[in-house]
Amino acid sequence: MSDIPVFKPLITQDEISAAVESLEMGWLGMGSYVAEFEAKIAEVIQAPDRHVSAVSTGTAALHVALLVAGVEPGDEVIVSAFNCSADYQAISWVGADIVFCDCDDDTLEMDMDKAETLVSNKTKAIIIMDYDCIISDYDRVDAFAKKHDLRVIHDACHSFGSSFKGKPVGSYSDICVFSFDPVKTITCLDGGAVVVRTEEEQKYVRELRLLGMQQPSEVMYQNKRAWTFDVERVGFRYHMLNLHAAIGVRQIEKLEQIRSTRVAASRRYSEHLAPISEVRTPNSEFNEVNPFLYYIRVPAEDRDDLRTYLKEKGIDTGIHWQPGHWFSLWKDCRKGDLSVTDAVGNEILSLPLHSMMDLALVDQVSDAISQFFSNKVTSHDG
Ligand SMILES: *Cc1c(COP(=O)(O)O)cnc(C)c1O
Repeated sequence: MSDIPVFKPLITQDEISAAVESLEMGWLGMGSYVAEFEAKIAEVIQAPDRHVSAVSTGTAALHVALLVAGVEPGDEVIVSAFNCSADYQAISWVGADIVFCDCDDDTLEMDMDKAETLVSNKTKAIIIMDYDCIISDYDRVDAFAKKHDLRVIHDACHSFGSSFKGKPVGSYSDICVFSFDPVKTITCLDGGAVVVRTEEEQKYVRELRLLGMQQPSEVMYQNKRAWTFDVERVGFRYHMLNLHAAIGVRQIEKLEQIRSTRVAASRRYSEHLAPISEVRTPNSEFNEVNPFLYYIRVPAEDRDDLRTYLKEKGIDTGIHWQPGHWFSLWKDCRKGDLSVTDAVGNEILSLPLHSMMDLALVDQVSDAISQFFSNKVTSHDG
């Protein structure tokens, strides 16, 4: 029996045909499909006043976002200790210092009260991240940033296609970052995007993504290039390729189907699992969201046994994430009280969640979890 994987990309003949077309076009680098992909993203986030640039990965997008925010060596960036390593690496790439903040026990978002105690005269920016189906309260974040004169990088790698209070993610934050990596809800194999507010920042993003070249993207979007241009600053090789963008375009066209089937699977999980006293399910009705994960929290002492039990039944599980300060590289970073993050790091578990998921699989996984905990009760009693 093959395992039920945690992630399963939705790749159909549409994506395969688009990939072939882009290869047959013969312009392999950044070109017309990238323009089309950016236009599709802009359509989803419904923000005509924002500027979208596609880049090679979500991590590249975070790096570019930190540079746009003006974060420099010696500056501090406050970030939740419950986040993806990519965020910490990006901060390290710009030479800034990570300051770890705890997450909130209920939402798993950065605890803004605790963040308040971590601000110093070196703090330049904060990174907030939407964990799965819980979208950060941006009203609160914005007030915090204004009070302390900070830039906000909104890591929305989990929340493309979600909304907050009716506003699409990507339409309201200072600098917003998306990922379209192999496991994200919308994939282009590897890809990311940076959304900024001004044309000037957009120009900077586009120089940073292509070796600092001041070559207008509009020329490349016609599958052509300008051979003469200036370079004024350090840049990277972070542009998106036509092949990737062609796949991304087809994926975004399926967004509604992807979102509705992931919501249905998530609701079904919660329906089954919320009644189990040992299991803590996400505090969400899954309205307005495009869920990336389905996570639960279980008692720390049961988690590994549960993972083994599920594995024996052919069910794969994941851990998102190990907290940042647990890694050797970042263990000595400045931090506040991280007691919630430490607990969550030992309790969190990701269950299989796929686009177009057969609900019978959700039932199968839920039944196995329910069985695990009822076996435990019986064996304790006996
Ligand atoms: C996936 C992810 C990233 C990194 O994106 P890549 O495209 O894999 O580089 C960053 N932050 C979060 C929260 C993510 O889930």
